[in-house]
Amino acid sequence: MKPHRLVLLGPPASGKGTQGQLMAEAWHLPITSTGEILRRESTLGTPLGLETDRYTSLGQLVPDEVVIASIADWLDANADAGFILDGTPRTLGQATALDALLEKRGTPLTDAIFLDVPPAVIEDRVRLRLMCARCGRTFRLGWQVQEKTAACPQCGGTLERRKDDDPTTLAERMSAYAEKTAPLVQFYDARGLLRRIAADQAVEKVFAQIAAALGRAEAEKEAAPRP
Ligand SMILES: [Zn+2]
Repeated sequence: MKPHRLVLLGPPASGKGTQGQLMAEAWHLPITSTGEILRRESTLGTPLGLETDRYTSLGQLVPDEVVIASIADWLDANADAGFILDGTPRTLGQATALDALLEKRGTPLTDAIFLDVPPAVIEDRVRLRLMCARCGRTFRLGWQVQEKTAACPQCGGTLERRKDDDPTTLAERMSAYAEKTAPLVQFYDARGLLRRIAADQAVEKVFAQIAAALGRAEAEKEAAPRP
């Protein structure tokens, strides 16, 4: 298989975190997100981290060039054999800068996976979503866990509602997404990279669609040992 160099796009609660983890595990790809990259620079106290702290302490957005420089650091350390960027880039500015950065490295994106979920479904999902305070995995109430007070099925940690998931915050995140991130769908479509996935389905069906879109499904069938 040629290496996959992927961005994973989609509105809040479209399943990026879950699908990203599945893809990373199945295909041995390093995965990260803007938040994770910026937190790492900040924890390590790098010059970029100090700059990031300066903006966040003022409650301001970290500028695109700082985000992209941090991504460049991460790629240098992790991305020799492909990568997944989960929910990154978030703006057209970041997408354009990321394109230029990857072009310079000789490692252009191979696919932009768009998890397409209607807004009404998202509201429902968020209302029923619980996150593990220990391992960060999310679960759906009434489906993967039966009670609000259940322990994490993966690690036994405490499940709680994410702060981002209260209705006011969700409305803000949805409008920020519509304004800043939704235009990326067209951006990647114009470059022939967009793989639109109908993500309003069970986790394993969504994953199967992604595998098919990346040409993995056939490849894996052929590679599987014959009886
Ligand atoms: Zn857990």
